[in-house]
Amino acid sequence: MEKNSKLGKKLLATGNGRCNIMNAEEPVYFGEKEFAHQVLSYCPPDSVQAFLEGLGLVLRTEEGGRMYPAGNRGDMVLDALTTPLFGSGVQVLLDTQAEKLEQRAEGWRVETTDGRSFSAPSLILAGGSCAAPKLGGTDSMYQLLTPLGFELARPLPALCALETQRKPLQGLSGLRLLARLTLLAQGEPADAAQGEMLFGETGVSGVCAMQLARTAAQALDKGQEVVLSVDVTPTLGLRDTAMERKPPEKPGQMAETARQWLLKRSGFLPDNRLLQGALPKPLADRLQGLSIEETARNLADWRLQVTGVRGFDHAQVAAGGISPRGVNPQTMESALPGLYLCGELLDVDGDTGGHNLMFALATGILAGESAAG
Ligand SMILES: Cc1cc2nc3c(=O)[nH]c(=O)nc-3n(C[C@H](O)[C@H](O)[C@H](O)COP(=O)(O)OP(=O)(O)OC[C@H]3O[C@@H](n4cnc5c(N)ncnc54)[C@H](O)[C@@H]3O)c2cc1C
Repeated sequence: MEKNSKLGKKLLATGNGRCNIMNAEEPVYFGEKEFAHQVLSYCPPDSVQAFLEGLGLVLRTEEGGRMYPAGNRGDMVLDALTTPLFGSGVQVLLDTQAEKLEQRAEGWRVETTDGRSFSAPSLILAGGSCAAPKLGGTDSMYQLLTPLGFELARPLPALCALETQRKPLQGLSGLRLLARLTLLAQGEPADAAQGEMLFGETGVSGVCAMQLARTAAQALDKGQEVVLSVDVTPTLGLRDTAMERKPPEKPGQMAETARQWLLKRSGFLPDNRLLQGALPKPLADRLQGLSIEETARNLADWRLQVTGVRGFDHAQVAAGGISPRGVNPQTMESALPGLYLCGELLDVDGDTGGHNLMFALATGILAGESAAG
């Protein structure tokens, strides 16, 4: 059953249409991460890959273990996943939304919003989270499961842009930079990531900013003060530029290196051109007229107050969801016999790089094999 009029609407939007389907490197999960690791011990990335290749999909691995269909098109993934359904006795019901679940002696009964009902000995729920409602995101799984006694960890938007105070961003909108970002909650380093960031009118985005959204959302939800420290020294070639999550460290570590770099440049460039050719002009102009010490501090630790995160409309995933307590990570069967849970409806969210689809696939494979077995 699918409430949308097409299958895989969200899948087609993933990875900018290229569908970053899985990740071949160390899994990175949050929320109930122990559970996620248990799931992957029963259905490891190799098995997910073998499953996809068994459907005919040809995969290619890029930097950071990110795996895509070799043809770089998400519709190839959708085609590989859905073609075997047709003609195999599987009935696909589009525009059909499950509204109510009932456990009966003979199994599970599902009622739909248009008044139909279906019964089966086993039921797999894979309705995702409330992220990206235009692509099908909804809280309907939470509404179906909480009355049955499942616990819900408050869903918050994750993998989305950070909203910051706007004035310091004036004139920078559209600018891309390589940076290391450290998120401070109540003045303490709480999370960090490195890679490309993008300035917008109302905040910052780009993969490294999006990776910090779940920590920012949770801290703001607790009423904590959240500040972003932007270190642009990767753009100056003073730090490595690999796109990755980093352990948070006290911001400003690179201020002395930046100061030495500026002093060296002052030997061959006039003071008003010290940043020329090293930083995009709007940012270089912004730092014009500051002393070398102040410039170095700004390059290594430019502070922006975080006022929020973009909402579920713009989030790729939800942090939080249904607790997997009682769910068997080998089969995905819940404590209620015959009821299987998989994918993003659970309180597991992954990092960018294919971890979210890989968790959805691994849990789906385990649930499917077990429910049918
Ligand atoms: C823009 C964007 C880009 C992304 N890029 C990536 C990426 O490159 N790599 C990656 O790993 N992850 C990516 N993600 C995250 C990834 O798409 C999700 O984690 C993944 O799709 C979750 O799979 P799922 O099957 O659990 O849920 P979904 O893919 O959300 O599927 C759930 C389906 O259930 C349907 N549904 C919900 N409730 C009901 C109901 N009551 N009755 C009937 N049908 C229902 C929904 O309409 C939906 O089609 C991205 C997400 C977004 C929004």
